[in-house]
Amino acid sequence: MSETLVYLDGEFVPKSKAVVSVFDHGFLYGDGIFEGIRCYGGNVFCLHEHIVRLYESAKSILLDIPLTIEEMEQAVVDTLQANGMADAYIRLIVSRGVGNLGLDPRSCARSSVIIITEALSLFPQAFYEQGLSIVTVPTRRNIPDALNPKIKSLNYLNNILVKMEAARAGVHEALMLNQDGYVCEGSGDNIFLVKNGKVITPPTYLGALEGITRNIVIELCAELGIPCEEKPFTRHDVYVADEVFLTGTAAEMIPVIDCDGRTIGNGQPGEMTQRLTEAFRGITHQRGTKVPELYTAVETV
Ligand code: PMP
Repeated sequence: MSETLVYLDGEFVPKSKAVVSVFDHGFLYGDGIFEGIRCYGGNVFCLHEHIVRLYESAKSILLDIPLTIEEMEQAVVDTLQANGMADAYIRLIVSRGVGNLGLDPRSCARSSVIIITEALSLFPQAFYEQGLSIVTVPTRRNIPDALNPKIKSLNYLNNILVKMEAARAGVHEALMLNQDGYVCEGSGDNIFLVKNGKVITPPTYLGALEGITRNIVIELCAELGIPCEEKPFTRHDVYVADEVFLTGTAAEMIPVIDCDGRTIGNGQPGEMTQRLTEAFRGITHQRGTKVPELYTAVETV
């Protein structure tokens, strides 16, 4: 099988040769930003929204991206085409670039753009049908005044610590709380509860990424006439929820059936979760940017 091609500063390079300098500040300091995007049947789901978020992250950390938004969108499409991948997870990285060993980013002449496309299912497939067990962990979410979780920065150590604590507890995902004990999000996904027919997700100012999948779910609730609120909640509210689910580009939508050993609802993926998941799957091939030659139209549900 031929190697995947990686977009590296405007060139397509085989995966085994796609390398960056040890003096890149993305490597030295986590100085950079990224996006995770999915392509479904040749439709890059919410490509524009992802690229806008990328440029917002860049603005926040004073990072110049050497491409316009339109050029960046085209680079993603070109990378998928170069690889002939109609279904893929896309990792788009902009690092500060090569500099000297000091922290000062002014030593980095030019930021570096990397686009990787791979097949990815974040959790084992069975959990999407049966539901996932999760835990809450001692590590708290970065406080927004230190490093705002709304910035999708390359500095993911906070999330990695949480992921390791989940693994040590024998589960695949964990929830981060903020300094006040409010639930923020998972290590790589947003959280939703369903209680008495209402869908609830934490406001992102508590310390969470403004997930694109999260925003889509909020929109789908409005379209389906399901009440949905952004409201702070605690671990207790998770334990006593009727349903819980997680959302993310990599995670997609996944039901949660246990948190810290408390069974959620009846221990099965809930009805509302299933209804919203179906609605979500119905738009993944529609909403976004079509890749010429790779797009196959599917019937809308
Ligand atoms: N929170 C965190 C910390 C994440 O890394 C992600 C994945 N990008 C999400 C939430 C979900 O965001 P999205 O739906 O935009 O992928």
